[in-house]
Amino acid sequence: MRKNDVYLIHGTDYLEMTKRLLFEAGLSDMIGDRGASVGIKPNLVAASAPSQGATTHGELVAGTIVYLREQGFSRITVMEGSWVGADTAHSLKAAGYEPILKEYQVPFVDLQKDGFREYDASGMRIKVCDSALAVDFMINVPVLKGHCQTTVTCALKNNKGVIPNSEKRRFHTLGLHKPIAHLNTVVKNDFILVDNICGDLDFEEGGNPVPMDRILGFADPVLCDAFVCEAMGFAVSEVPYIGMAEALGVGSSDLAGAKLHVLNAPVSATSSERPARRVEKLARYVQADDACSACYGSLIHALNRLDEAGRLEKRLLKHPVAIGQGWQKKPGEIGIGRCTGGCRHSLKGCPPKAGEILSFLETYWGKA
Ligand code: SF4
Repeated sequence: MRKNDVYLIHGTDYLEMTKRLLFEAGLSDMIGDRGASVGIKPNLVAASAPSQGATTHGELVAGTIVYLREQGFSRITVMEGSWVGADTAHSLKAAGYEPILKEYQVPFVDLQKDGFREYDASGMRIKVCDSALAVDFMINVPVLKGHCQTTVTCALKNNKGVIPNSEKRRFHTLGLHKPIAHLNTVVKNDFILVDNICGDLDFEEGGNPVPMDRILGFADPVLCDAFVCEAMGFAVSEVPYIGMAEALGVGSSDLAGAKLHVLNAPVSATSSERPARRVEKLARYVQADDACSACYGSLIHALNRLDEAGRLEKRLLKHPVAIGQGWQKKPGEIGIGRCTGGCRHSLKGCPPKAGEILSFLETYWGKA
């Protein structure tokens, strides 16, 4: 896998999707030596079930362990340190990891209790937990989601889990962006497996999950976070730590130069659960008929951007946005995705990105 490759898989069998993505990305070749020690670092920020949009689904960790074992790797450790105020053991339990670790007999390191040392992170002194730097290869498994302070959070910010609590507190006093960028010059980001199953709309601790049923793979954390901005309808410049990390040589945010490997087609949304209140409010502007999760989720993110900017008004409910396979060959006023080609105004793409949807809706509703 090259630095500019992006792997993307859709579906609802998250364990099998993980195995397939890692296989297609050639992860075993990236690690190389079968005797290498491999770390898996999910996001267990707080005691919250993954369905709430804050924490990494256990199936991604389980699928990674199964893949690694099948490829001949046996020195595997899962590690994480929850945020200040949350106990990692509680987070582990709430996210359903205990049976997974027991079934696969993989050790877990609570980084809140780990030793640490201070490093020169490109001109900034930063303390990092020993176990996170002791492994030969680190698989970062963040959740693609919104964040109330940094706008988005994914690969780069997930590494805040590998520093001691005292350092997490200090990061907040420093405004997060600069220390996050510098931290990523010393921590390991060898592979990034992104949980884009149902990350939260705008809060790190979850509560408003947006189902998208996708898993993504990257070799570059900066490219990963730039991609996340696009997927949520933000400009990369709106998240300062991405540009700062790029300037420090952590990676490249060049999305135009990225090579996308889409391993399968999007799947229809299947959840029977009532959507979170905030998502439900945005869904009033949508006429969905058999919409794929990735398409629908992108539209919800775009609508959220408009809502935050105060540009979602009741009068726009006159023409809710059509989306979904049930719209194929049907007439309508405005639609998102190639399935709505019969609408008077339709945005191509399968699925289109949130940023594209945002521009399209702004143009259309700007004239309305
Ligand atoms: S355009 Fe149609 S087929 Fe493609 S992702 Fe959207 S709903 Fe699914």
